[in-house]
Amino acid sequence: MLRVAVIGGGPSGSCTAEILAKAGIKTWIFERKLDNAKPCGGAIPLCMVSEFELPDSIIDRKVRNMRMISPSNREVDISLDKVYGETENEYIGMCRREVMDAFMRNRAAELGAILVNGLVTKIETGTNRQGPYTLNYSDYSSGDAKGEAKTLEVDLIVGADGANSRVAKAMDAGDYNVAIAFQERIKLPEKEMSYYEDLAEMYVGTDVSPDFYGWVFPKFDHVAVGTGTMQKNQALIKDLQEGVRERAQKRLVNGEVIKVEAHPIPEHPRPRRVVGRMALVGDAAGYVTKSSGEGIYFAAKSGRMCAEEIVSASQGGSKIPTEDDLKKYIKKWDKKYGATYKVLEILQNIFYSNDGAREAFVEMCDDIDVQRLTFDSYLYKTVVAMKPLQQLKLTFMTLGSVLRGRALAPKSYKPVPSTVRGDEEVNKMLAVSTIKGGIKVGKKKVK
Ligand SMILES: Cc1cc2nc3c(=O)[nH]c(=O)nc-3n(C[C@H](O)[C@H](O)[C@H](O)COP(=O)(O)OP(=O)(O)OC[C@H]3O[C@@H](n4cnc5c(N)ncnc54)[C@H](O)[C@@H]3O)c2cc1C
Repeated sequence: MLRVAVIGGGPSGSCTAEILAKAGIKTWIFERKLDNAKPCGGAIPLCMVSEFELPDSIIDRKVRNMRMISPSNREVDISLDKVYGETENEYIGMCRREVMDAFMRNRAAELGAILVNGLVTKIETGTNRQGPYTLNYSDYSSGDAKGEAKTLEVDLIVGADGANSRVAKAMDAGDYNVAIAFQERIKLPEKEMSYYEDLAEMYVGTDVSPDFYGWVFPKFDHVAVGTGTMQKNQALIKDLQEGVRERAQKRLVNGEVIKVEAHPIPEHPRPRRVVGRMALVGDAAGYVTKSSGEGIYFAAKSGRMCAEEIVSASQGGSKIPTEDDLKKYIKKWDKKYGATYKVLEILQNIFYSNDGAREAFVEMCDDIDVQRLTFDSYLYKTVVAMKPLQQLKLTFMTLGSVLRGRALAPKSYKPVPSTVRGDEEVNKMLAVSTIKGGIKVGKKKVK
């Protein structure tokens, strides 16, 4: 009888364990912290809700408006009403990870996976890393903070343990570059929060990130404000976060930081994602997209696809899959999503490279064809074929916008205006206090 250990109880681990348990395979799922709040924007596409049967209770907000803000503060709304009509069927789900992860993990446990509240500290991989594998872990189930040292022998390991994966190290999966993302959860006064009711903001500009975007995403009782940048710029991360705060300061006035969080984000897949009978999924494998920084759906989906391959190759758990069997999951994954990752990488390289290009990017987002294309591919994860005329229009628009963008790019950055108070009132409030707590902000002042 096949024995599988899934290391990590985030979306990738839970979705792996769920499929294995449903097939009757002996499955352990290890999570070091059962109330873990993974630092994350928590935005999920609509298709994830139905595909992974997520209940409404784990979704804090259903966002129907995405406001893009250029370096010169041009604001463009991508509104789902405009793209799909006022049906309210479509939305971007905003979740708190501690809520979402606990739901998915507990569901896997209810289906039969053995949930271990434990930190896997060492993995003995057997001859030529072919197993059987011995996990050394600290079991926290008694509530003792130090944990009890234990071991477990299994035939197969799925590494769903995120960007700092211990499984990846044990299997010598090779390194990847990581971006760094930083986020503050900020509680806002009622008036300010009402503006973010079903609206999320994306800020672009060298001030908020040299290669990514800054965000204000609404959650149950606060907004998540953050930014990210590639590894080579990671020393800048706090300045960039200050950049987001400064641009959004009139909308975040009198906010109070309730949590500060940071975490690496993989920039590309690891050189090896399967070695012996060990396979990586989610962030451990390196499945976050460029441009959008989306990883939750891909984590869940990769966990599910990997588990399906294990179920099929093991004939429902009656034999141990081979390395080649597991590699079939990688082949299918790359075939299904390889083009998506490539296109998003190209878009990031073109549109996030300088302020002129960012102006062009925001300008293009005003076009209904661009909006539909973006949302169809994000919400439904479908590659949408464009009509030749649309393609031609898009090409001309890209060229035109990029040329115009250079002229529009600002010399300095200014805060966007408040939408719920007059400028005089906001300036008075800012003179007394800006955002309480969080990162220490430098000498940059309100412009
Ligand atoms: C600031 C930030 C914002 C983001 N915003 C978004 C967004 O809005 N939308 C989106 O789609 N993606 C976003 N992402 C990316 C997303 O968070 C990840 O892609 C996703 O969490 C990957 O899921 P996972 O299950 O693979 O790994 P994780 O979510 O990292 O889960 C790994 C789990 O393994 C556990 N673990 C680790 N090591 C061990 C061990 N040795 N033993 C036991 N347990 C262990 C951890 O506690 C954790 O629960 C963001 C990332 C960051 C950093």
